[in-house]
Amino acid sequence: MHYGYFNGSVLPTDQISVGVTDLSLLRGYGLFDYFLTYNGRPFQWDWYWERFRNSAAGLRLPLPFGKDETYAVVMDLLARTGQPDVAFRFVMTGGYSPDSISIGTPNLMILTEDIHPVPPIQYEQGIKVILDDYVREMAEVKTTDYKRVILKAEEIRAANALDILYHKDGEISELSRSNFFIVRGNKLITPNRHILRGITRRTIMELAQADFQVEERPLLLSELYEADEAFTTSSTKKVLPITQIGELMIGNGQVGIRSRFLLERMDELVAKW
Ligand SMILES: *Cc1c(COP(=O)(O)O)cnc(C)c1O
Repeated sequence: MHYGYFNGSVLPTDQISVGVTDLSLLRGYGLFDYFLTYNGRPFQWDWYWERFRNSAAGLRLPLPFGKDETYAVVMDLLARTGQPDVAFRFVMTGGYSPDSISIGTPNLMILTEDIHPVPPIQYEQGIKVILDDYVREMAEVKTTDYKRVILKAEEIRAANALDILYHKDGEISELSRSNFFIVRGNKLITPNRHILRGITRRTIMELAQADFQVEERPLLLSELYEADEAFTTSSTKKVLPITQIGELMIGNGQVGIRSRFLLERMDELVAKW
């Protein structure tokens, strides 16, 4: 059973609803964040909170509370689930708008959800993605706008792929809901523009410091031909190998040892979190 917080009350999630004059419904004006708990503790809470605050500022929405009050709500909801490992979704909208265009008082929902882990076979074999010439609007803000990937669902399925890799003017940014890395020798390269700064990306860059030379810079499409390995990172995916991009096999088309190594480091970190 999952509970959620909505504007001061805690209710079973299926009893939470938002009114029809909310700006997220009328104008697509909303943001969210998403993180997991491990062993009863929110993973990288400080970093997720900072990002949520920045997203709210990006959409000019005032936060109804501070970090400590929000943390207390999170821990209360977590206790109600009776589980140590759950997902949290924060959703914040433009609020009820009297004239259907100006920002009202934001509506804030804090919801717990089951985690939907990646099937093990995807870690063993790696995944295929297809290229998409697109750049997200306000890429650095975790807005609720995922129209692009929803529209592309059929194309992705027809290609036997699982996601899309965005690029524009020869430069790669990220996947629809996760960040992108290539490995070349002992170099780890990840784009630094037109992306949502993933907390998993940040965690992996930190974990990799000791063993890799980490480069955060514009990454060209042409560099895919020279990559030994590629992988994507997100809260749910952790480090998920990408073995095929469109018709291009990455490296030898198998999951590489360095992607495996980084996934192991990540698994160790969350196990003792
Ligand atoms: C959420 C998201 C990510 C990954 O962020 P994490 O904090 O690692 O989960 C990357 N790109 C986009 C577009 C996202 O929405």
